[in-house]
Amino acid sequence: MRIHHLNCGTMCPNGARLINGEGGLLSPGRIVCHCLLIEAADGLVLVDTGLGMEDMADRGRLGGVFAILRPRSNVAETALKQVEALGFSAGDVRQIVTTHLDPDHSGGLPDFPHAEVHVFGRELDAALNPSLRDRPRYRKPHWSHGPRWVRHEVEGDEWFGFEGVRILPELGAEVLMVPLIGHTLGQAGIAIKRDDHWLLHCGDAYFHHEEVATPPSCPPGLRFFQNLNNADRRQRLANQERLRELSSQHGDEVRLVCSHDPHELDLAQAASADVAAA
Ligand SMILES: [Zn+2]
Repeated sequence: MRIHHLNCGTMCPNGARLINGEGGLLSPGRIVCHCLLIEAADGLVLVDTGLGMEDMADRGRLGGVFAILRPRSNVAETALKQVEALGFSAGDVRQIVTTHLDPDHSGGLPDFPHAEVHVFGRELDAALNPSLRDRPRYRKPHWSHGPRWVRHEVEGDEWFGFEGVRILPELGAEVLMVPLIGHTLGQAGIAIKRDDHWLLHCGDAYFHHEEVATPPSCPPGLRFFQNLNNADRRQRLANQERLRELSSQHGDEVRLVCSHDPHELDLAQAASADVAAA
């Protein structure tokens, strides 16, 4: 099993120092959309899809908040084009596992219309029947093609003290959905076991690697954005605290990544390149 760390969309809001913790106050920051492409025995699995082909052509599809986030139009960054660049086709992506359905995570769904799309039940409900407050964040064009949703509910499995939902048993690899509610009502992490180690893709449960360090810190612009945009602040902060404990107590067994931190993506891609070269 091979795991590729892909950036499926770059956003460049003004204020690098407030966003990335370094760089000029007025210079553009860098926010990535860290997705995973897993080469499994019987096909490809995508964890999140980033921005899609149609989003790159018309960034208005993403909704109003993205005017501030300033996504770059770069078709080569879409999951579809990166899958093709690796020598595969859209049809080889049999399964998509989503952390949640915000536009910068669900944009690529229409590019893989035949894939099964695994979603935590609470997130599917929040997205398909959004409350008045949530209506602007969920974008119907991302699922107007009728995705093959596969709904998952918590059933009592445990993973390092978290609730976990075992999915994709046919892969020959362990893949779990780990609810990390807060950013959205059904936001989940995706845990993937490889050899004796776990990779936990935390989605938007945190935005900056130092938020899960001890003691935690976060650039002020990112902290502001997370507070502005969370569905349940209390649960979001409680889950960040649990991730911090997980990292400090089991950091040798579990590696955490989130969706939008370019530092984590660069490290993960560099480590993959080392493995490939060895
Ligand atoms: Zn996001």
